[in-house]
Amino acid sequence: MTRIDGHTYLIGLMAYPIRHSMSPTMHNTAFEALNLNFVYLAFDVPEEKLKDGVAAIRTLEMRGSNVSMPNKQAIIPYLDKLDISAELNQAVNTVVNDHGILTGYTTDGVGFVTDLKKKGHEVAGKKMVLIGAGGAGTPIATQSALDGLSEIRIFNRHDGRFGHAQETVDIINQKTNCQASLTDLADQGALQEALAWADIFCDATGVGMKPLEDQSLVTDPTWFKKDLVVYDTVYAPRETKLMTIAKNAGVAHVYNGLGMMIEQGAAAFRLWTGQNMPIDLVQTAIE
Ligand code: NAD
Repeated sequence: MTRIDGHTYLIGLMAYPIRHSMSPTMHNTAFEALNLNFVYLAFDVPEEKLKDGVAAIRTLEMRGSNVSMPNKQAIIPYLDKLDISAELNQAVNTVVNDHGILTGYTTDGVGFVTDLKKKGHEVAGKKMVLIGAGGAGTPIATQSALDGLSEIRIFNRHDGRFGHAQETVDIINQKTNCQASLTDLADQGALQEALAWADIFCDATGVGMKPLEDQSLVTDPTWFKKDLVVYDTVYAPRETKLMTIAKNAGVAHVYNGLGMMIEQGAAAFRLWTGQNMPIDLVQTAIE
């Protein structure tokens, strides 16, 4: 157990519901391993209490906080600055308190790109198909574009997220060198054609996770070429239906979202402490 004394810095996690989160285990394991005088605690903070939650970061001189749903967009008006990662997504998952100045970041996109890189796949110069442009899909798209992805075809079903997906496409086309487009997921012919064209395929919809664990948005194994990199942002279960279908189709590089989850935490950890999270140790602690 990390020694707690009068100099210990507090880092929070403000979301609702949040008690199931693996983040406290991740960060406290890392603080202890590196002998850093920080403690990370999860707090149930619904949106109506968020203003008070952010005030507490200032009052208690906390080093910062993670935020998750429903607070990722709602927190923006209470912060002083946004990093480009948060600005492009209009969402925040990490707050850093530098002597009273609160800056919002989104580290999910860095988490995705870093995890892929560690697995041997650079996004620079590549073509990507992404299904889903919500809380996970949007930073995956924007960070990949910032890191040199050449082209992205986003597919979203025609639900409340479609307009947001179009805004993301517009931002990528305006602010990066990546060429982005949006297609209705109902256009299955376009999806099949895009999978034949792409280097990387990412499903960021949550289909494959409870209660949709028996479902996959791609069911025809012939749509997967063997050299496609297939990434599902879901990490519970560790192997989704999509992943099983891709593996059975002979795809060699098929990944779940656990690495992205750990790397987004590692990026936040670096922002708060200036140190690298001991990834292997953290991975063992949460498995
Ligand atoms: P969200 O609700 O913000 O967005 C979901 C997106 O998927 C939207 O674009 C929506 O239109 C689309 N979608 C939802 N259900 C669909 C369906 N049945 N068919 C087709 N499209 C559908 O959710 P989110 O926060 O982006 O999370 C998505 C998934 O990513 C979840 O499984 C979540 O656990 C996972 N996630 C993983 C990480 C990680 O670090 N690995 C981080 C964040 C989220």
